[in-house]
Amino acid sequence: MKIKEQVLSAIESVDDLASIENLRVEYLGKKGKLTSILRGMGSLSADERPRIGKLANEVREAIETALSEKKKYFEEKATELKLSSQFIDITLPGKKLASGHEHPLYLVIDEMLDIFGQLGFSVVEGPEIEWVKNNFDNLNVPLEHSSRDYSDTFYFTDDILLRTQTSPVQVRAMTGNQPPIKIVSPGKVYRKDEIDATHSPMFHQLEGLIIDEGITMADLKGTLDYVAKLMYGEDTQTRFRPHQFYFTEPSAEMDASCFACHGKGCRICKGTGWIEILGCGMVHPHVLEICGIDPEKYTGFAFGMGLDRMAMLKYDINDLRLLFGNDTEFLEQF
Ligand SMILES: [Zn+2]
Repeated sequence: MKIKEQVLSAIESVDDLASIENLRVEYLGKKGKLTSILRGMGSLSADERPRIGKLANEVREAIETALSEKKKYFEEKATELKLSSQFIDITLPGKKLASGHEHPLYLVIDEMLDIFGQLGFSVVEGPEIEWVKNNFDNLNVPLEHSSRDYSDTFYFTDDILLRTQTSPVQVRAMTGNQPPIKIVSPGKVYRKDEIDATHSPMFHQLEGLIIDEGITMADLKGTLDYVAKLMYGEDTQTRFRPHQFYFTEPSAEMDASCFACHGKGCRICKGTGWIEILGCGMVHPHVLEICGIDPEKYTGFAFGMGLDRMAMLKYDINDLRLLFGNDTEFLEQF
């Protein structure tokens, strides 16, 4: 059949994928040349019909095979072209991903939580937006105390403020539970301070609380002295100076011998040989009572430290603003 040679040579000469589709429609489509021949077979005589029918099917198969082979050829060529245009030189050095690392402040927080974790404290966090009663009233802070002033504290309403200390977490822990309680609580606190090298309206504290039967000032001193040794080394000395906090009675501030000069006196300890570490004291019986814990049965101690100052001391950073500045060149040093 002439039509077979005609198509096969046409297929041979096409040079793109679209022309192949055109040829298919031209010969094998609904109105295609071969299709109309097959349709016309009804008019053939009975003995011609099988012979012509067989031939027509052979031609059809030959055309289909030729078309699909050619199509495959073009598709492979297109893939090859695409791959060669996307050639990747695997010997080139890769793009370096800039990976972040921990902020010096959080290195200190993690270290402190690790130390308190070893001593069996659980970590408890609380909201930064607090009730006035949790931040002041239940902590025994007198109504006339200056820290309650609008000039010192960020208030939302008369009842709600940005916590000025992490102590409200202790109130929450005591109110919701009966002793034994053994927690530490790190977090952000807020006070209306002007920003300078040592002050910021937002800073970080870590507080701890132990309440149980028979807890004494000796437990307080022993525990916190041990903490100082874990922080700065076995040979670290501590001293307690009387102080006043409303939440605790008696209260003290604890100094540790300077980790840099070991007590000889240097720039970091301002020549004194001592570094102020934390405030502490025995939880005031009135506070226990307000929080629903029987002060006749239970006693406890609490302590609090400024984490930003810890980080500044540890990494010899002389300006608090550097910790909050988001200056990656500065932060990459740690
Ligand atoms: Zn020193």
